[in-house]
Amino acid sequence: MTKIVYFNASEITRDYYKNNPLPIKAETVFMEKSPADLTAEELKTVSDADVISVFVHAVDVGARVLSQFPNLKLIALRSTGYNNVDLSYCREHHIEVVNVPGYGDSTVAEFTFGLLIDVTRKISRSFRAVQEAHVDTDHYLGFDLKGRTIGIIGTGAIGRYVAKIAKSFDMTILAYDPYPNPKFAEEYGFKYVDLPEMFSTADIISLHCPLTKENYHLLDEAAFAQMKKGVVIINTARGELIDTEALFKALSNGKVYGAGLDVLEYESALIHDDLYLSALNVRESDSLLRSLINLRMLQLKNVIITPHVAFNSIDAVHRILKTADDNIIAFLNGKTVNSVLNK
Ligand code: NAD
Repeated sequence: MTKIVYFNASEITRDYYKNNPLPIKAETVFMEKSPADLTAEELKTVSDADVISVFVHAVDVGARVLSQFPNLKLIALRSTGYNNVDLSYCREHHIEVVNVPGYGDSTVAEFTFGLLIDVTRKISRSFRAVQEAHVDTDHYLGFDLKGRTIGIIGTGAIGRYVAKIAKSFDMTILAYDPYPNPKFAEEYGFKYVDLPEMFSTADIISLHCPLTKENYHLLDEAAFAQMKKGVVIINTARGELIDTEALFKALSNGKVYGAGLDVLEYESALIHDDLYLSALNVRESDSLLRSLINLRMLQLKNVIITPHVAFNSIDAVHRILKTADDNIIAFLNGKTVNSVLNK
């Protein structure tokens, strides 16, 4: 019988599958951990899996991890992004990889605006002051979004929904995408520009592109140097799109007014562990440096950091789980959908 192992299976995931069992004969196993974190004993119970399903928090789905599943035929991601999977290994070993595209364009876009308004109106910061009974209204002076210019990097499903919300806020919208689509620009009311033009004119820059080899550290020291003083940076895409050190410097010297970050380089430490202890455990010097900068960033007053939860509404989570299962069923019936191997 086909064996399907769901990793990173939270209570919501288990409940969903209890209420919506697969309409096919298969053995299903649920594990809270990521495949990279299994003990030898745990691995023995699942290494014969035909299908594994992982969530975005499984950061390492690389060759070493995958080689522990010799029967593997399908990786069903419960996420849009797939930069955590070694696609070359999968191609070489005839393992199909499928994702969940477009489950949460409105969900992530709403969260993006949540972060943006929190930065520009200092909502969390003033709430903390109320909690601490230490209020000084002047410290929470913010600025309006109406009339400001937002630069959207990546005009896919989420970027376009961000444009739609920005329009209703009476903002001017600029966008950059290596594959511009004039129809989208017309429909959503934005103008495509190149990155230097966006950097020199936008009051807010929001990232909505996938992480690729080409755009690693897209926002680096040189990019920040081109930006307007007082720009706001929002990242709900992937941490590695921003050079953490360059952002930290720009936040500290006032070049960047504030940042709302749902994703960070080396964010797994932030999500799963005690940040301080996990920073101590990092051996590689570059990772250690960036983990320590994350720690320093947490202490800045002009930064809001959330633990990669922009997708995390019950509506979106149910859409993810349903699509992931539809993908598995289609594959087992010989009709692959949502493959990422050719992207
Ligand atoms: P999408 O595939 O619909 O759109 C991505 C767009 O980015 C495409 O138009 C593509 O042409 C463009 N692009 C590619 N490389 C680019 C580059 N270098 N510069 C600018 N644009 C580029 O994806 P989506 O559903 O809109 O999601 C966007 C990203 O958001 C995902 O790749 C994922 O990393 C991230 N995401 C995060 C969360 C979260 O919870 N924080 C949830 C979902 C998605």
